[in-house]
Amino acid sequence: MKLYNLKNHNEQVNFLQAVNMGLGHKQGLFFPKHLPTIHPYELEKLLNMDFFTRSIKILSMFLKDEIKSTDLKQYVQNAFSFPGPRIVPVLKNISCCELFHGPTLAFKDFGARFMAQILSHINNSIMKNNKTTILTATSGDTGAAVAHAFYKIKNVNVIILYPHGKISKLQENLFCTLGHNITTISINGSFDKCQQLVKQAFNDQELRVKIGLNSANSINISRLLAQICYYFEAYALISQENRKQLVISIPCGNFGNLTAGLLAKSMGLPIKSFIAATNVNDTVPRFLSTGKWEPHHCISTISNAMDISRPNNWPRVQELFHRKQWKIKKLNFGSVSDSITKKTLSELKNHGYISEPHAAIAYRLLKHKLQHDEFGLFLGTAHPAKFKHIVDKILNENIQLPEELKKYSHLPLLSYYMKPNFNKLKKFLLLKQ
Ligand SMILES: *Cc1c(COP(=O)(O)O)cnc(C)c1O
Repeated sequence: MKLYNLKNHNEQVNFLQAVNMGLGHKQGLFFPKHLPTIHPYELEKLLNMDFFTRSIKILSMFLKDEIKSTDLKQYVQNAFSFPGPRIVPVLKNISCCELFHGPTLAFKDFGARFMAQILSHINNSIMKNNKTTILTATSGDTGAAVAHAFYKIKNVNVIILYPHGKISKLQENLFCTLGHNITTISINGSFDKCQQLVKQAFNDQELRVKIGLNSANSINISRLLAQICYYFEAYALISQENRKQLVISIPCGNFGNLTAGLLAKSMGLPIKSFIAATNVNDTVPRFLSTGKWEPHHCISTISNAMDISRPNNWPRVQELFHRKQWKIKKLNFGSVSDSITKKTLSELKNHGYISEPHAAIAYRLLKHKLQHDEFGLFLGTAHPAKFKHIVDKILNENIQLPEELKKYSHLPLLSYYMKPNFNKLKKFLLLKQ
């Protein structure tokens, strides 16, 4: 598969190069040159397959010329070795598509674990003993998913930056207690600051080469391709009737999840429309209503994985709309405040469904925008237990931690602490080698 840099279409790379580089020149994102499409009769066959078989088929449409089918099969099996999506009805015409039954209880497990497999393929089969340093910024869930996906993977060092005091204790415990090849740094600043430091590091040619820098954020195309697979699974799991007018509402931060959904649609999965749901960090909703791109300072909310004011996948969304000649005006969108999010969590509980702030935002907009003849799915991006401190208080509940989280909550934190200073970070990274 060939990909081009969105900032310079002349820079073209294949998939494995794109995964290895993360970003292109001028921090440009890579985008597939050719978008595979599926004929309706083929789609019918695909939908009848199980999740693994179908996912291998979908990914091989992109990757067959670069990864042998027996290898790809193995990687998909290693990556998706946990319970896949579940559809849980909430109202007659609305269900939650739960994507959080993986090892770190977030949808990010799908993308991060597939990326780990591909990087391991590059370092151990293609380049033999090549060393990679994964540097990534997280507002919570990425850190856990990436740390667990890459834990003890040969020839990969992982460094994770996160905003000090702005993620939940549980989230912190889940990825800052592992050790081995996983190093975590708590930065005295916002998530945007962390993301900026990562970008600076990528811009530093010397550093990039010396430590084999790579990012595991959703700028990495391998994550997005893996995520396409669960949209097909969600579609396969709902009834024929509900498939006819399907609307999917997505809680958006960096807009990777939405990009993957749009890619699934571009391949021929008949999703009628998407809703891009944000919290008050609403750069995209404001852009869609005014046409002006004006990121504000990042605001902390109870849906902290979406506290992002410069969503880095947005150029991919725009490119896809352009390539498919879809109208960006057709994209549904909205933003939801913390107080409405809390009310929505209570509303969901009254319908018998315990959720968490991110999914609640997607539900709220879906509920308000869904037409009478449509069927809606909102994506459950994290298990409510990951936001226990918030959800328990609002709902007067005592959510039980799944076993996966319990064992981490008593381990000591191994994080370093750092001011948001690039030179300090650079020194640290070079010393870590
Ligand atoms: C990362 C995350 C999101 C946002 O997903 P993007 O792909 O960055 O838009 C939403 N909810 C949760 C729980 C997350 O961890």
